[in-house]
Amino acid sequence: MQNIQEIRQAFPILGRTVYNKPLVYLDNGATTQKPQCVIDAITEEYVNVNANVHRGVHYLSQEATRLYEEARMTVRDFIHARSTSEIIFTRGTTESINLVAASFGEAFLNEGDEVIVTEMEHHSNIVPWQLLRSRKGIVLKVCPITDEGRLDLAALEQLFSPRTRLVACAHVSNVLGTVNPVKPIIEMAHAHDVPVLIDGAQSVPHLAVDVQALDCDFYAFSGHKVYGPTGIGVLYGKEKWLEQMPPYMGGGEMIGKVSFEHTTFNDLPYKFEAGTPDYVAAHGLAVALDFVSSIGFEAIEAHEQDITHYALTRLREIPGMRIFGHPQQVSTPLLDREGQGGESSVISFLVGNIHHLDLGTLLDRLGIAVRTGHHCAEPLMHRLGIEGTVRASFALYNTKEEVDALVAGIDRVRQMF
Ligand code: PLP
Repeated sequence: MQNIQEIRQAFPILGRTVYNKPLVYLDNGATTQKPQCVIDAITEEYVNVNANVHRGVHYLSQEATRLYEEARMTVRDFIHARSTSEIIFTRGTTESINLVAASFGEAFLNEGDEVIVTEMEHHSNIVPWQLLRSRKGIVLKVCPITDEGRLDLAALEQLFSPRTRLVACAHVSNVLGTVNPVKPIIEMAHAHDVPVLIDGAQSVPHLAVDVQALDCDFYAFSGHKVYGPTGIGVLYGKEKWLEQMPPYMGGGEMIGKVSFEHTTFNDLPYKFEAGTPDYVAAHGLAVALDFVSSIGFEAIEAHEQDITHYALTRLREIPGMRIFGHPQQVSTPLLDREGQGGESSVISFLVGNIHHLDLGTLLDRLGIAVRTGHHCAEPLMHRLGIEGTVRASFALYNTKEEVDALVAGIDRVRQMF
């Protein structure tokens, strides 16, 4: 990896202080900071280009359209999709999954049909299916996890039935850091003729994703978690499914011809992009993805693996430390190797009897930003028998000194209790 200090300098916010302490930002699972190039790209587009896309014959509109469509190509290449027809811009992972639940659900799911999710899903990969259950009477089945925080694949195999219509599963858990073996899961599902949606919110920033190699049917992720702007995300879908799915929302852009009697719909991907998209954010996302590519996943994985290994070693030295996921016997956390699973740079923990909220609040006063609570994964909290955790989640710009600051902070808080 390039010099870490050089990389940090690309992120202006990392130079600020909070409560007169240097900021130690360890909440990257929630959102990542933005490099100057992304901030500049957004400003530059508003200063020099701004016009609505796809609708204008004039210069600015064509320029904005070009940037928007080039962003789609960047996303296609980044996740190794076959075609830009398969890249739909959404507001984020949540909207992407809701789109599939509503539209795939409308086309392919009927009363009694089954969708399999897992015990470690984020609410955004649970609630859309529950809404569909209320509307259509589908059945939600849940793949359990082991005590080590891994998916129980033998149990998953048992959940398939002739009524199974979809598996919806996180690539990386936002609580445990577990990288699920999505490739074998997709192979298992396809052997039952069942398509698979992968929630890639926590994977795309950390490991190279190849949707064609994985052979997933849908893949969702958020721009803001991969150094891009808020309000933009992606749904990848295989054309064969997207072609058969009805529009999610109606409005401008997604139509062919409209009359009061009959309306036809636009081609892919526009059929799923009703209304004015956030074209500026799409361009910002493309710049963020180019930034990530310029560093390269080999370097990012090696750096994050190093930081995570160091953090696990140091955290485990703290008396009363309880880490969820990251089984002890795995000495070096391995990021995903071609969909076979591993561990990512998310570490959830509790210390003794200290409430997660107290620990997070006191760390904040030391300038250390961690997340506390259930992390939008309440069913997983129930499985673990806890109400919440403290979560440190590392990105490509974090350093071992920041891990040291976290450990020293936890020690200080421990002494107060
Ligand atoms: N899925 C996972 C695993 C996540 O971690 C998150 C966000 O934390 C989401 C989905 C939802 O992402 P967004 O809020 O960007 O739509």
